[in-house]
Amino acid sequence: MSNKPDCIFCKIAAKEIPAEIVYEDDSIIAFEDANPQVPVHTLIIPKDHYDSIADNVPSELLAKIFSNVANVAKIKGVRESGFRTVVNTGDEGGQTVHHLHVHILGGAALPIHMGPAD
Ligand code: AMP
Ligand code: ZN
Repeated sequence: MSNKPDCIFCKIAAKEIPAEIVYEDDSIIAFEDANPQVPVHTLIIPKDHYDSIADNVPSELLAKIFSNVANVAKIKGVRESGFRTVVNTGDEGGQTVHHLHVHILGGAALPIHMGPAD
């Protein structure tokens, strides 16, 4: 497994720091966001470190992550009601933790906002 020193999500994947784990298998882990923006706010990450979705992530791993989005949404009870999947990438994309992660947001009707930050 490839880890990056001082990466907080690598530490969660290695169980070096705690997280509320929702789902885990050999290559990915889903856990609750520590600062939820909506009632359901769960993150899916690869256990291996990739800075972002723009970091030459193997397509099999991307498939693994995204094919588990609906699975994690089901575990969280929002598969039927609907949810939003967000992947912030890089500085202008609003990424603050530089280990690839997919947000699953739900449990409330979400506003549509795709424009620049005000
Ligand atoms: P982003 O802005 O897309 O990089 O999102 C990073 C997310 O990681 C934010 O929603 C944070 O609340 C969340 N986060 C940061 N540190 C932790 C942590 N130790 N455990 C769980 N979630 C975290
Ligand atoms: Zn990492």
